[in-house]
Amino acid sequence: MFADLNAGRSRTMKRHVRHTPYSEFIHPKRVSMQISENTVVSIHYTLTNNAGETIDSSIQRGEPLAYLHGAGNIIPGLEKALVGKAAGDKLDVTVNPEEGYGERHEQLIQQVPKTAFEGNEENLQPGMQFQAQTEAGPRIFTITAVEGDEVTVDGNHPLAGETLNFAVEVTEVREASDEEKEHGHVHGPEGHDH
Ligand code: ZN
Repeated sequence: MFADLNAGRSRTMKRHVRHTPYSEFIHPKRVSMQISENTVVSIHYTLTNNAGETIDSSIQRGEPLAYLHGAGNIIPGLEKALVGKAAGDKLDVTVNPEEGYGERHEQLIQQVPKTAFEGNEENLQPGMQFQAQTEAGPRIFTITAVEGDEVTVDGNHPLAGETLNFAVEVTEVREASDEEKEHGHVHGPEGHDH
């Protein structure tokens, strides 16, 4: 009699242990994929400068930014801060110029004659952007002033020298496809289109 009872109890205990997945004791929630090399990451972000002005916002655009992590597709300071994060994580990231768009270089502000803009001489206005070949490769220049025949251009990135404050929410993390890894960018509705 006693022997039978103990045997039954013992079986019940074993069944109970088997039916409680071990992982539930370690992770109360489902384990989500963490951001690392070769993951495709979607984030919502709002970028403000140190004056508190909003410079850019994926929320205003209405769709998250998708990028291939580890491919240098976003500024280094932000990419670094996102390592190990997962969908649902929110973080505030402050990025200094050296890990953002670089410091401003005064020598990239130059005066050129209007004739340098072949075919566009008549319509030149501050804010217009042109690509020009430099010793360091192609560079985008922004016109900052037009006076007579003189045009002032600035080859600094508009955000060079700025400390950037990002409020970020990770919305999705997935494995990159082989093709995405090969191309170094994201494919699909939110990313690069061929
Ligand atoms: Zn591609």
